[in-house]
Amino acid sequence: MNAISNLNLEEMRQHVLGRFASLFESQTRTHLFAANVSELVRNIHAEAIQGLQASFRQMAGFDIDPDKKAQFMAGIEQAITPFMRLDETLALLLEERKRQWQQNEKNLLQVMLEFDQISSELSGTLIEKDLLERQSNVLESIILSHEKVTQWKAFIQEILSSFHSIFPFNFFFISFAEKNNLSLYIYYLNNYSEEIRTAARMRLARDMIASLGLPADAPLDIEEFQVVENDCCDDINEINLITVSVPSLEVVNLAGLLGVAYGSAQELTVQEESVIRSILSVMVMVVGSSKALSRTLSELEYYSTHDPLTGLHNRRYFNEMLDYEVGRSERHNHEFTVLMLDLDDFKDVNDTYGHPCGDSVLRQIAETMHATMRKGDLATRIGGDEFAIILTETGREGAMVVAEKLRTELREISFESSDGKTFHITTSIGLVTFPGDAQNVSDLMTGVDIGLYRAKELGKDGIAMLESTERIRTERTNRDHAEKLRDALKDERIIPYYQPIFDCRSGKIWAHETLARLVEPNGETQSAGMFIETIEKYGLGRELDRVILRKALAAMRHCMDEGSEPPRLFINLSAQEIQGRGILGFAEQLCLDFDIPPSAIVFEILERDAIGDMTHMRKFLSNLREKGFSFALDDFGSGYNSFHYLRELHFDYVKIDGAFVRNILNSKIDYALVRNLSHLCQDLGILTVAEFVESQEILEALKAMGIDFAQGFHLDMPLPRLKSSD
Ligand code: C2E
Ligand code: CA
Ligand code: CA
Repeated sequence: MNAISNLNLEEMRQHVLGRFASLFESQTRTHLFAANVSELVRNIHAEAIQGLQASFRQMAGFDIDPDKKAQFMAGIEQAITPFMRLDETLALLLEERKRQWQQNEKNLLQVMLEFDQISSELSGTLIEKDLLERQSNVLESIILSHEKVTQWKAFIQEILSSFHSIFPFNFFFISFAEKNNLSLYIYYLNNYSEEIRTAARMRLARDMIASLGLPADAPLDIEEFQVVENDCCDDINEINLITVSVPSLEVVNLAGLLGVAYGSAQELTVQEESVIRSILSVMVMVVGSSKALSRTLSELEYYSTHDPLTGLHNRRYFNEMLDYEVGRSERHNHEFTVLMLDLDDFKDVNDTYGHPCGDSVLRQIAETMHATMRKGDLATRIGGDEFAIILTETGREGAMVVAEKLRTELREISFESSDGKTFHITTSIGLVTFPGDAQNVSDLMTGVDIGLYRAKELGKDGIAMLESTERIRTERTNRDHAEKLRDALKDERIIPYYQPIFDCRSGKIWAHETLARLVEPNGETQSAGMFIETIEKYGLGRELDRVILRKALAAMRHCMDEGSEPPRLFINLSAQEIQGRGILGFAEQLCLDFDIPPSAIVFEILERDAIGDMTHMRKFLSNLREKGFSFALDDFGSGYNSFHYLRELHFDYVKIDGAFVRNILNSKIDYALVRNLSHLCQDLGILTVAEFVESQEILEALKAMGIDFAQGFHLDMPLPRLKSSD
């Protein structure tokens, strides 16, 4: 549409300039006409005067009465005078006309110049507006989904080809310096000959190496893409570049440049250059975030399933695989066995030789374990000094052999402390077999725990399994537990505690998170961590959330009645509540009843729940937002998919999983992870909350990363009442 208005503008310009030209022409004609007419009049007068003067001279020779003669001569002179006057007046008039004409011409010219300038400015703005609109259209169409981020190179190609009609350049390129390597991606906007491509490659590589400060012999990694299949006959003698650097890559320790290259035969107009720059600014955004995201994504992907210290898989992965293995073995009628290993008196190693030594012990144990496993078996580290192993298609006897072998190999490793002392470690192992000992995941885990416990009881350094008579009672205890919780909910013995969340910059309380507490009949309180699993499992989540919400809003009202500003509250939502959606109406009604603005409420949604059903989640959140509530993604970092959701679902806050935060000073990887998450959220305009801030040092490190808010035992414990914000 804007292209058309530009066309109209140009037409109008031509039209007006044409009118000006014809005005000039007619003015010049009038002027010439006037000059000719007055010339003609003057000539006629001159002739007439000459005639009269000739008659006059003739008359002088006649012999007539001198008086009459004088009278006649005076008559002639009198007749000539008006002609002469008329001539003088005409000359004056003409002079005046000419002056006016020149003045007019000056004015006209001025108007014409002004018009020309205004119209070209106008066409400039139209182009800019047009570009801005296109740019924002393109930006809108660029949704950095998980899939696009990981395939960003193809994504760029897609964007370029949708743009190619307005591309007056020949190549588009992106370059990154990574560990002294140069990666160069070249997109050809035409079908060039191999010579031209080679020249382009060489020129780009040379320039990028220089611009990114790499050594001249830096290894090159070039990838090329053909965007448009136009044949091109232009020779490109010399290549000119327009480059832009990709910012925010320092997040992932990358330096990058991108730009376009064009042959010198093509002179770029100012507008073309502005087109190119606007496209480049779009590309910088796409490339920068894609690259940063895909980097962090793959890191997270790795660390979401691996233990950073030993490189073994982690507890989450173990849980997933155990689930999977139960299903698989059921279908195929296989047996399999789970081993749970716990190092004996490992705490003493840490206490005596220090944590670095303890870490190195864990690493060596992991290596040995890994070497002892068959392919297809899975060794994982599921806790500090706890390891779990799945032996696929292995029954009790086979598993005993493996366990025995492991136990002896581990006790034979000779460890060395930093001061040169050697020591050994023994291991206790619990063993449980599917389906002989247990038939589901939960029973398997209970069974293996019982085995491990018995091995420890029997004096450590041993292997133990379930006695055949042993019953697994977890189901039953859980059911009893659920009954107890149901009663507690009914008796209003489940109440909210409030943990303050601090603003890292001002140091003041920014909000509180409500955390459910169970008050036992004897007055003792139990943390949510003790019962939340049972609550969710027995479908009590909805009731819990409503009780907490109602009590928390009543507490807020109370605060406000005492003259405080409405305190901001972060409230946990259970998966069930999200499924049900009824919470919306409930929360809205409570806000009305208590006269509390919904903007004071931030609902926390666990990452694993957000990942469930995307379409549903999007609708749920947009309904929440419509009502004025905000929301936070809880335990962020514990599942890698969340980047996609983060962007798509527009969370207001992200709470970075405390398991990473509490470790940032001990683990470089956790540090990098939290820092990357923080930068990513900053890039996406999402506020960050770090949980489990357990020391001043951690707080300082978080502040340095630019984390917005902090929560944790170091700052304040969960308390039975809201604190005032100053
Ligand atoms: P969460 O939402 O991640 O809450 C943080 C948990 O970490 C709380 O445990 C809190 O007491 C604890 N915590 C706070 N600061 C620190 C710290 O510095 N270090 C350590 N190690 N822990 C810290 P809590 O209260 O036992 O809650 C456990 C989980 O139960 C919560 O995890 C949340 O997912 C769930 N939950 C709690 N209250 C509710 C509720 O009202 N409704 C629902 N649906 N879930 C709740
Ligand atoms: Ca929470
Ligand atoms: Ca959390």
